[in-house]
Amino acid sequence: MSETVHDILRAHAGARAIAAPGRAPLSGPALAALAEEVRAALNARGIGRGDRVAIVLPNGPAAATAFAAIAAMCCAAPLNPAYKDQEFEFYLDDLKPRAVIVAAGADSPVRGVAAKLGIPLLDLAEDESAPAGAFTLDVSALPETPAANPGPAEPEDEALVLHTSGTTARPKIVPLRSKNLAASARHIAASLALAPDDLCLNVMPLFHIHGLIAATLASLRAGGAVCCTPGFNAFRFFSWLEEENPTWYTAVPTMHQAILLRAPEDDAVRALANLRFIRSSSASLPPQVMAALEQKFGAPVIEAYGMTEAAHQMASNPLPPRARKAGSVGIAAGPEIAIMDDDGTLLPQGETGEVVIRGPNVTAGYAANPEANAKAFTNGWFRTGDQGMLDAEGYLFLTGRLKEQINRGGEKISPLEVDVALLDHPDIAEVCTFAIPHDKLGEEVGAIVVPRAGTAPDPQAIRDFAAGRLAAFKVPRRILIMEAIPKGPTGKVQRVGLASRLGIEA
Ligand code: ATP
Ligand code: MG
Repeated sequence: MSETVHDILRAHAGARAIAAPGRAPLSGPALAALAEEVRAALNARGIGRGDRVAIVLPNGPAAATAFAAIAAMCCAAPLNPAYKDQEFEFYLDDLKPRAVIVAAGADSPVRGVAAKLGIPLLDLAEDESAPAGAFTLDVSALPETPAANPGPAEPEDEALVLHTSGTTARPKIVPLRSKNLAASARHIAASLALAPDDLCLNVMPLFHIHGLIAATLASLRAGGAVCCTPGFNAFRFFSWLEEENPTWYTAVPTMHQAILLRAPEDDAVRALANLRFIRSSSASLPPQVMAALEQKFGAPVIEAYGMTEAAHQMASNPLPPRARKAGSVGIAAGPEIAIMDDDGTLLPQGETGEVVIRGPNVTAGYAANPEANAKAFTNGWFRTGDQGMLDAEGYLFLTGRLKEQINRGGEKISPLEVDVALLDHPDIAEVCTFAIPHDKLGEEVGAIVVPRAGTAPDPQAIRDFAAGRLAAFKVPRRILIMEAIPKGPTGKVQRVGLASRLGIEA
């Protein structure tokens, strides 16, 4: 039978499972006991397998333990605690959870929204002197009726519902089964050779698949631990490295870039950090950033490819001594990967088309969205919406997202390619290329450029530089110099619709 989240918790015998900066760690057996306590309490109050429980907690160890405990028995629905009334109303109405877990004493708008929708609120109280992630849950708002479906969640039960990041469209609800989560955790632990002595420093939000599965569940699956920070903070990052001594961290490229900007000298970084590797996923890692990170930390950078619908990981670069290829997201590391054309025909190696996947970690389909599902599945393959090519050694090179392509009077341009070319400019720290409307061509190429500290590059000089590296039609017509690139809640650059959000007209 397939493995479940409950199996993962039960198997963790280590002294350290959940950690947090400056706190004593929670052991594997203590985490399993906490999960059992939560299960008994909720099973006695009508909540059982398949029921959804929303989790609205700030990033930190309790968000990790609450996720693990809920996913082991029913279905966790973690929501971004920064949502405002309207967003909570939309998501709670969409997800119809049986209860909402909220931090005791926190003045969150979810309280009012849940009350209005008649959803019981369960206060989660943390004791700062107890091991990291230990909590008590007040279930008194629930009726005292035994659950119809008690017991740990089984492999086919839904264990996690998440929304996609909303990078290209309104976020879609993705249900993932216990077996999907366990399979993905197993794949990630295997590709990174995670072991009980590994400690992941988690800076990723725990309402997004990357932090929940790659940082948290994969660490637990390996019998190792995750150190849960209050969230990404480039200023505190280096003291966490020094004080907590993690063996790895995983983040999105914009965070790696921010880390590089704040990093002390190479020697100082190497003296304070002891990383076995650095992992990057969720968006494309510019080769220049990969090289700079490796130089700074003296550790290999492992770029991986993930998405919510795959319970995160699809491909990963291998650890040394096997080759990692800059610009590639690596080899299939979980599901099977193939390339498909628009008509549903699988393409041979070397040809570019849509990346499709199938495997034990892939969702069975979006919730209540037959239209999206009809488009998403072809002959049993899930269409990722990403475009790419497999090389002779099975390394996947992504060329962009189908929806982000710039269509300049019929010429298709990958914004990624333009980003990478511009990043070679010595004065450019960050770039985001995107489509701007054009009255004759439909779309033109625009780019936001964030200059390196102390430089003031001139837009025309950047265009001249780009013209030396790119075909003329790919050179951005318009360059906006800005202090930062606008990002979505999971730290991703949202290219689709960016022009209209910036008020750029044809
Ligand atoms: P939405 O589906 O709502 O538009 P989203 O696709 O950004 O949002 P996620 O599931 O968080 O939501 O992200 C998955 C996507 O992130 C992938 O489909 C891919 O486009 C991108 N991605 C993930 N890893 C990488 C990577 N290493 N390189 C390039 N792109 C990546
Ligand atoms: Mg997506």
